[in-house]
Amino acid sequence: MNSILYLDHAAATPADPRVIHAMEPFFSARFGNPSSLHALGEDAQDAVEQARKVVARFVQCRPDEIIFTSGATEANNLAILGYARANKEKGRHLITTTIEHHSVLHTARALMNEGFEITELPVKEDGVADTNKLAAALRDDTILVSIGYANNEIGTVQPLRELHEAMADRKIFFHTDAVQASGALTLDVTKLGVDALSLSGSKIYGPKGVGALYVRKGTAISPLMHGGGQERGLRSGTENVAGIVGFATALEIAQQDKENEAQRLSAMRDRFFVELQRIFPSMKINGSRDHRLPNNVNVVLPGLDGEAVVIYASKEGVMLSTGSACSTVDQDPSHVLRAIGRSEDEANSSIRITLGRNTKEEDISRAITTLRNIALTFAVAR
Ligand code: PMP
Repeated sequence: MNSILYLDHAAATPADPRVIHAMEPFFSARFGNPSSLHALGEDAQDAVEQARKVVARFVQCRPDEIIFTSGATEANNLAILGYARANKEKGRHLITTTIEHHSVLHTARALMNEGFEITELPVKEDGVADTNKLAAALRDDTILVSIGYANNEIGTVQPLRELHEAMADRKIFFHTDAVQASGALTLDVTKLGVDALSLSGSKIYGPKGVGALYVRKGTAISPLMHGGGQERGLRSGTENVAGIVGFATALEIAQQDKENEAQRLSAMRDRFFVELQRIFPSMKINGSRDHRLPNNVNVVLPGLDGEAVVIYASKEGVMLSTGSACSTVDQDPSHVLRAIGRSEDEANSSIRITLGRNTKEEDISRAITTLRNIALTFAVAR
């Protein structure tokens, strides 16, 4: 097979070699359990607390406001289920949007079995949440709003601060899934106006299976996991020390060059849009052009089958995605593309290309050539 060109960074990122290096001792010489009283336990505990400080700095909060989890799915579940269950006497109405990741949407829906009502707020055609619609959806019994910072499929970035302001001074718990935003945008929980924020190692050149939830101090949260009482009783279970150290290292690295990297990627993303339009004149961009992650290209290629394009490109060594690679078990057309008004055909003709730290200009040329060949092949076949 040709050399691999990986353009699916919204699905997974390769761990940075510095991350792997930082993790290694915690599998071998420094293998202690942070709960052990002896020196090896203390060493592991120190490593976790050091990592907690790094994550706290990344989102501008206090270290004791960070809970380490097994990833963003768990962080989202802990924020939504944990808050709702601990605060149900205040109200039983939750708001989220139609384009959330399933780890938010399905979690919120699961609460309907516990007597909660969920409003799934429609977004505008460009995928941006509407502050007026949010304000209109608020009720006296609304206790929680969860809106992702950047969408994993169409890359749309939400105006969190404005959405926060739309809630005026009501005491509503505002959670955001910042998984896809964390590599590109500045995360400052106070400036964003959020009370809780989820992160994942797997999208930030860290390890998979580790993440964190920021929760504002003083918030009542019910744990999902019961046991040894780790993470201040909010996440029992022996800490994934190596994973936590790797995750923190990845965040530190991401922080170093965020702005330049965002500029570099958005220039390549825009070149993609221009060149794709030349090959596919009827191409449509999914999601906002302006309020968009620097690395996200998601387009409708009318007449082509997205899945066939992905499989064909893969044979050529080019790794792309249809709507969302997070749930290939779910065969329905992307709920996000449907929610922004795409027809079933358009959704099925959509592909997602997500650039990353190792993507270079010549990679764009190769991907474009591959897509041009696919367009020609399918045109001949028709
Ligand atoms: N939220 C978003 C926006 C994501 O993209 C993902 C990963 N696809 C998740 C949550 C789930 O993260 P994890 O795999 O760490 O549980």
